[in-house]
Amino acid sequence: MNIANWLYQTAMSRPERDAILVGAELRHNYASLLQAICARAAELSERYRVAKGDRVAIFAKNCPEYIELLHACWWIGAVAVPVNCKLHPSEAEWILRHAGATLVYTDGGGVFGPSEYFREAAIAARTETGADVVRPIALEDGELAWLFYTSGTTGKPKGAMLSHGNLRNMALCYTADVDNASAADAVLYAAPMSHGAGLYMFAHLRAGGAHLVPPSRGFDCDEIIDLAITRGDLVFFAAPTMVKRLIAASRLRGFDGAGIRTIIYGGGPMYLADLEEALELFGPRFVQIYGQGETPMTIAALSRDLIADADECRSHRRRASVGVAQSCVEIAIVDGDGNALPPGRTGEICVKSPTVMLGYWRDDRATAETIRDGWLHTGDLGHISGDGFIYLTDRSKDVIISGGTNIYPREVEEALLAHPAVFEVAVVGEPESEWGEQVVAHIVLAPDERASEEELDNWCRQRMAAFKRPKKYVFVVELPKNSYGKILKTALRANAPAG
Ligand code: AMP
Repeated sequence: MNIANWLYQTAMSRPERDAILVGAELRHNYASLLQAICARAAELSERYRVAKGDRVAIFAKNCPEYIELLHACWWIGAVAVPVNCKLHPSEAEWILRHAGATLVYTDGGGVFGPSEYFREAAIAARTETGADVVRPIALEDGELAWLFYTSGTTGKPKGAMLSHGNLRNMALCYTADVDNASAADAVLYAAPMSHGAGLYMFAHLRAGGAHLVPPSRGFDCDEIIDLAITRGDLVFFAAPTMVKRLIAASRLRGFDGAGIRTIIYGGGPMYLADLEEALELFGPRFVQIYGQGETPMTIAALSRDLIADADECRSHRRRASVGVAQSCVEIAIVDGDGNALPPGRTGEICVKSPTVMLGYWRDDRATAETIRDGWLHTGDLGHISGDGFIYLTDRSKDVIISGGTNIYPREVEEALLAHPAVFEVAVVGEPESEWGEQVVAHIVLAPDERASEEELDNWCRQRMAAFKRPKKYVFVVELPKNSYGKILKTALRANAPAG
């Protein structure tokens, strides 16, 4: 089934409801959104000669037209390629060429030079109006909807092929496991629509909620607080680093989270100390998800009530987990030879689910390495507790092997972050002649705080086995992050002296 049917049905059944706003300004109700999509779909086929299966890229910051363009593609069976707007145009061009996109929509046009491979169109420049309202074309579940280029914290990005069925199952899991979507919600696109925030639009389109693009078109803490106060009922996705910034800004303004219904966080580790600070200020407004582009947003979820329930969570340390498998997901933890491991043992997290991608675009080798016997190998290491909670240890390539023993950076990071002077930390392995690798902590201190290497070492001594303690501390002003806010451990490792 074509995922665009959801929006079509809402436009038919609730045409007068607010659909898209920029801040407080209404751009579309559902009826006019449908009109705009049909006009854009007509433009795609008639003016740009885009046919079913062709790839159409969007390289732009969040904007109200994003939802129109994605749906216009699906209306005619084309494949959308949302490209992270923070990439350099040359990186974006690599993706466009790899995807074989014939058309790219950009903010003002003129981002790319003349190309024999693709045409470029400015998002807003549309002259056609009053197109006939038609239904989206009929598609099978397995047909391609979205080429999701991974954030590429290592190597070149790969294009996860997400089908219409993948997206529908993801959206159904959202309502079952993450949050209920209702017509009263205002979904805020504060994180990039090319990634999690955009993927999560479907349940809210189906429910007939309002979709809010912030005037800044990005993540601005004061703007979010203002929208929470003036509009209310906000629901949004945010990376853990964004939550941390929002909490710091809210503290300064004496804001307690009223007007924010739900913050869904995920995409990277949320450290316990940060979560507890967020809960203390905002109360039960958080849900955690664990997913990856290859099974978008859908591996595990830690629900609002479990996060908020201090007794249940503290005693089981559940807040440090990523929750339980989502409704349509089966999880197995396997060792290096692919054997399933019992609860409590650490291995690679593997997933079987109707949300798992069809494979990587034009990369059979990577597909065969990643999906084996119907199981997606996530590259994440972790274990499942006896009661079904999943604890992520690290990306397998981030594990430090020192003297033949595995050290999981996350454990060391959690301990260091609990120190009051530590604001952010990234622990990596550095080549070292005697042990193979040594543990190095890169530390960002909190404003106006100080901590010596000796003090942090004592702190670690009291909390972890001696061999896990960092052997070296590097104090930095900020950590290298990719455009989605994820810490780039590869960059930290690349700068390390050779062993
Ligand atoms: P991406 O495909 O860019 O969304 O990156 C997915 C990766 O981010 C996963 O494979 C995990 O390593 C990490 N990740 C996603 N969600 C979480 C989470 N809730 N906690 C910790 N790491 C996460």
